[in-house]
Amino acid sequence: ALLLGAMCGLLTGILCAYVMTIRMRPGREILSAINREQFYVVYQPVVHASDLHIGGVEVLMRWTHPVAGNIPPDAFISFAEGQNLIVPLTRHLFALIAKDAPALQKILPPGTKLGINISPNHLHAESFKQDIRELLASLPENYFSVVLEVTERDMLNEKQAIKLFEWLHGEGIEIAIDDFGTGHSALIYLERFTLDYLKIDRGFVNAIGMETVTSPVLDTVLTLTHRLNLVTVAEGVETQEQAAWLRDHGVDFLQGYWISRPLTLTQLVEAHNEPAKY
Ligand code: C2E
Ligand code: CA
Ligand code: CA
Ligand code: CA
Repeated sequence: ALLLGAMCGLLTGILCAYVMTIRMRPGREILSAINREQFYVVYQPVVHASDLHIGGVEVLMRWTHPVAGNIPPDAFISFAEGQNLIVPLTRHLFALIAKDAPALQKILPPGTKLGINISPNHLHAESFKQDIRELLASLPENYFSVVLEVTERDMLNEKQAIKLFEWLHGEGIEIAIDDFGTGHSALIYLERFTLDYLKIDRGFVNAIGMETVTSPVLDTVLTLTHRLNLVTVAEGVETQEQAAWLRDHGVDFLQGYWISRPLTLTQLVEAHNEPAKY
């Protein structure tokens, strides 16, 4: 009986360990989180610098893990990329946006831009065009304007990127370069791509007001973007001083905690009902 008990214990132990490794397998964690609807999206308003009225929202993903709590996207996105799961995760994101779209349509004016972050792995995936077509088909017709946010790194394969951007423009989609200034590409490199928006990384925005002489890099970036007719968005605007400086230096759009934190759909609706918010 003792031996039997010990064997049973051992078996249960092995079984437990087995179940644990399966359950803790990161890839499975993401897939099961999709199925269990642990991901949700928040929307951060992007406003015109001139009068602060809303021009778009950036869609940002969130994961509420039952044990670990809120896992920030910087952690789980790279994790999903490493596990080759960015495509299913982004398709899920598209489905979440489509589900919210009718409610968004009620509170956001026509032409509002929906900024969606796209991982490089997805941009170069075989299913990319099909995924984009499905996203467009799932949104109310001719209402929102989709802007894909990609980083400088994604443009390294220059020929492929140029063709892809051409295709996207044909589908009515605009392209924003995200985190601009954090990559390694030369500024002039921008001229070869047909881009619509340039999002100035919050690292540059942070520096405004902290230094007596404002960043020569930021000045150069702004001079160049104006010469290239690019529309600029400043990220991470946290103070009124930064907002004023950016507006006075010709930046077109502002995004950041000073305007609004990322909001759930419910919070966005509430903010909309509060007059004089944007
Ligand atoms: P990002 O694309 O640069 O997104 C902006 C990040 O800055 C967001 O962080 C936002 O909450 C934060 N932020 C906005 N305003 C301010 C501000 O005034 N001050 C400060 N300190 N931060 C501000 P979040 O949501 O944690 O996202 C982090 C990154 O995760 C994003 O950076 C993006 O690269 C990635 N990410 C988020 N959602 C998705 C997604 O759906 N797909 C992909 N591929 N990446 C995503
Ligand atoms: Ca972004
Ligand atoms: Ca960014
Ligand atoms: Ca980023």
